[in-house]
This record gives sequence, C-alpha cells and structure tokens, in this order.
Amino acid sequence: MKNNTWVEINKENLIHNLRNIKSQTNNSKLMFVVKANAYGHDIKKAVSITEEQVGLVDTYGVHMLESAIKLRENGIKKDIYVLGYVNINNLKYLFEYNLIHVVTNKESLNKICELAKNRKENIKINLKCETGTNRQGILKEDFPAYLEKIKNCSYVKLEGLVSHFANIEDTTDKTYAKYQLNKYEEFINIAKNNNFELPRNHIACSAAILLLPETHYDMVRAGISSYGLWSSKETYLSHQFESQTPITLKPVLSWKTIIGQLKTIQPGSYIGYGCTYKTTNKTQLAILPIGYYDGYDRKLSNSGYVIINDKRAPLRGRVCMNMIIVDVTNIPEPKLEDEVILIGKSSSEEISAEEIADKTNTINYEVVSRINPNIERIIV
Ligand SMILES: *Cc1c(COP(=O)(O)O)cnc(C)c1O
Repeated sequence: MKNNTWVEINKENLIHNLRNIKSQTNNSKLMFVVKANAYGHDIKKAVSITEEQVGLVDTYGVHMLESAIKLRENGIKKDIYVLGYVNINNLKYLFEYNLIHVVTNKESLNKICELAKNRKENIKINLKCETGTNRQGILKEDFPAYLEKIKNCSYVKLEGLVSHFANIEDTTDKTYAKYQLNKYEEFINIAKNNNFELPRNHIACSAAILLLPETHYDMVRAGISSYGLWSSKETYLSHQFESQTPITLKPVLSWKTIIGQLKTIQPGSYIGYGCTYKTTNKTQLAILPIGYYDGYDRKLSNSGYVIINDKRAPLRGRVCMNMIIVDVTNIPEPKLEDEVILIGKSSSEEISAEEIADKTNTINYEVVSRINPNIERIIV
C-alpha cells in the first residue's frame, strides 16, 4: 500500500557517521545507542544496517529490557547493554538473553546474585557511578558495599564502571565534565584497589567522544551523532575549532508526506482551528495528511515550513491532530500527491531537526525520537 507519510533512513549516511565517530577514538569499542526506537529511526532497521557492515559497531545500548530482547530475537549476537531500570521480577531475562545490565541499586544487585547462584550461571554486570548528574548512579559512600557484595558472589563479574555527563553538550566550558571525570576516576581507583580488573569502562556520550578524548576509556556510547545530528551548536562549534581531526556528520532521517488537497481561497479568509490566521491575498493552500499525532509538534502552528518542489511553504493556522495546512501560493505548479519534505533536504532547501527544535523550544533529540513509531521507516 502507498503511504501518505513515511520516514526515509539513509543507509550510507548512517555508515558514514559511525565510521567517522570510530575514527575519533583510539581503539575504544563503539556502542551504538539505539534506545528510543533508535532515536526514532526504527531500531530493527537501524541495526539491520550496522549488522551488515563487519566491524562498524561493537555493541548496542538500549534503555528498555524489551528492546534488548527484541534485538536478541532478531538474531543479534553482539553484547547488548540495558542502560535503563529493569524491574526486579524481570532480572532473570538478563540470564536468558545474555544481556549486560548497568546496575544502579542494591536490590537489583542482590537479586542478580541470588539468581546467578541458583542458576549456577556466570553473568557480567556494570555498575553506574554517581559523578554529578544526580540521575541514576551509586553514591561513592555506598560503592564499597557493592564491591563487597560482588566479591562474595563468584558468578557475578563486574565488567566495568559506567557514568554519564551532565553538562557537556550545553556549554563550551568543560569544567563540570572534567570534575565528573575526576569523580569517575575515584570510583575506578576504589574498584582497582579492591582487585577488580574492569576490562570495559565507559562514560563518553557523543559530545564527549567528539570533544574530550580522555573520556574514551574502553568503550564509547554514540547516540545522536550516529544519526548525523550534533548534540548541540556548542558541540559542533567546539569540535570544529578544537579537534585535530574534525569530522562531518550527515543526517540519516528524512520525513516525508504528500499533498492531500489543493484549493485557492479569497483574501480575508480564516485558516484552521481558532481562526488564528487570516489571509490578506488570494491564497493557494495545500492540506497535508499529518499532524501532532504523527509527532509533528503543535508549536509549529503558524511558524513551521515544509519543502514542496524545492521551495519552502509556510504553515498557516494551527497544527491539527492529523493534518496541517500550508501556503503554496509561491510554489511552482503544486499537484495533488506531490511529495512534501517535513524534515530533510531538497536540491536547494533544507528543514533540519534543529530548525524544528528551535521553533518548538526543544532539542533535535526530541524532534526525531517523537516521530510516531507507526509511520513506516524505509531504508534508502
Ligand atoms: C542516551 C545516552 C547516551 C547517548 O547520548 P548521545 O548524546 O545521544 O550520544 C549515552 N549514554 C547514556 C547513559 C545515555 O542514556
């Protein structure tokens, strides 16, 4: 069936980005972060691309246990890290599906130990260290008790320590990131003094990978940059100015729809709910069959643009649940079912996730990850 809206996933660009990210590290393993349905790109399809390329990525990172299981059921053999909270009742699935959980609390660790002993099965875990984000993470004063517990549970192997930066993409000032890195080192030292080997420590997200090589350790966790988007303007600028070997990133996702109706209305006509727009001239409108249900933010009402026939067309009136209305008066010969670009590039125009994020007071991460997962993703 021909769809009214679809998302295109550019395979070459995804490969380009991951190769470039890998080139920034000195032999660190590369985790491809595919949480949130691969940031809206479709986890199954994104992973199908990386699995075809030998050596492109080393491991996968997901938030939800369910996503990890889905990857295993799709035949993925690489290490999979579950970064988010796992319900105590579901910890058994870590064994059944051979998953590495980033443990953040005592109850989870105790249960994993108990399961491992009962099953007589080895399991690798990571511990999340609180270094200053104050989100997940074990406090330093509680940390020795975790190590003690692991020592007394011979089936449980502490593979590595994990942390996450709070303030690396929102600023060009790296003071807080360096403060967190020092805290992280303190955790590593405590564990090493307790004879833990820690073969795979990891702390770096995209901005850290691109800006602070000393954060790379044994593995880096690339999310947004894999999809060809910069963590922020600050990250982009700092990388271009400070990196010895700056890289390019190419957006992987484009979002498209078609014209569902065309009509010309008279000057002085109102458009859409709330009558928030009134025409001053004779105006040709195109009605597009997508709306906020699809993940097209309602804050784009009267402010967003789309691309039709290589020209920008402005939104008129409010974004509706399943429709938007655009002014095509200045578009050369628009026709029913002409292709419309909501996010993406034509030969001379581009609507980026960042443009939409600026207009809707958010970040590119949210723009792409909130595109309705029911919309078909097509690899191009
Ligand atoms: C989402 C996430 C990442 C990836 O961050 P990006 O900025 O998208 O690269 C890395 N680590 C953790 C713990 C995350 O939750």
